[in-house]
Amino acid sequence: MKIKEIKARKILNSAGNWTIECKLLTDKGEFVAAVPQGISRGKEEKESVSPEKAIFQIEKEISPLLRKNSPQTQEELDRLLNNPSWGSNATLAVSAAFFKSQPLPSPSQLPQMMMLVFEGKKHGNPALKIQEFMVIVSNIEEGKNAYEKVKKRLEKEGLATTVGSEGGFSPFGINNEEEVIKILEEETELPLALDVAADTSPPSPSTLLDIVRRYRVVSIEDPLPETKKEEWKVFFQEAKKIKEEIMIVADDLTVTNPEKIATGGEQGLFNAVIIKPNQQGTISQATEAIAVAKRYGLKTIVSHRGEETNDSWIVDLAIKENVDFVKFGAPCRGERIAKYNRLLSFSEV
Ligand code: PEP
Ligand code: MG
Repeated sequence: MKIKEIKARKILNSAGNWTIECKLLTDKGEFVAAVPQGISRGKEEKESVSPEKAIFQIEKEISPLLRKNSPQTQEELDRLLNNPSWGSNATLAVSAAFFKSQPLPSPSQLPQMMMLVFEGKKHGNPALKIQEFMVIVSNIEEGKNAYEKVKKRLEKEGLATTVGSEGGFSPFGINNEEEVIKILEEETELPLALDVAADTSPPSPSTLLDIVRRYRVVSIEDPLPETKKEEWKVFFQEAKKIKEEIMIVADDLTVTNPEKIATGGEQGLFNAVIIKPNQQGTISQATEAIAVAKRYGLKTIVSHRGEETNDSWIVDLAIKENVDFVKFGAPCRGERIAKYNRLLSFSEV
């Protein structure tokens, strides 16, 4: 494939903020990809730059370099994008557009979903100390039914069914995490997953362990701040004593960085990792992070971001890499639905 030119432009994301979309013009056709942004970001994520700067970098610096070098594989392309002066949004937009030009193998098995039902903190009602309350499902119908049941329950109780950044319910009338979990347990029979996003005002570790003990919670993401590695280890051990199958998931702690995943895996800080390509800035770094996680026996969860676009290449990445779980928000809001509909297209083949 021959890259003729790369164009980029500003588009609005789901929060009404500017992000970028990039168009790869090739002899095989045009491939367009847009990039998301995080709201509750890890401190060691690779920096993005302003949309204007990203457009400049793509059109004036990356495009000439790629035209000259003519990369033929994702790895060759991403190696050329490995330049610390370029923003993660600039490199990922190009990397994802190239990814879309590549053929996809047919999926062997679809991942399970951590489907969002309630959200709080930076994504919704700030009084809640847990950011995401999810149900674990193996098909969309099951998650959709759970979401609808909870909606009816909220309506019956006269609570608002307004939603947060990722489509999860976020009524200001519920300010207590256990109240949310109880609703999920009463309205569904599904296993539950939480994202504590512990860098801001988390519940104490003992409160979280108590939640693991008392409820159907089988997965907890970022239970502790990214700075408290020793506490992560203790928490993981304590949680395993309560529920052997518990998943302790690293997101802000590992930021899709293969070395951090390997070190944390070796040290026994967690047994599952979130993969967000824009935390590092290329598709290859994300696939390497997945490969390292699998090597260490860790579960892999490919995830969207708080501020999304209607693009759905993240689904293709999850399918191609045969990951264990995906996290695409609630079955609500167009930018989340775009991912679920893409996933549906794979279950039809
Ligand atoms: C998350 O923390 O898992 C998440 C999706 O949030 P954000 O994209 O806002 O960092
Ligand atoms: Mg998270």
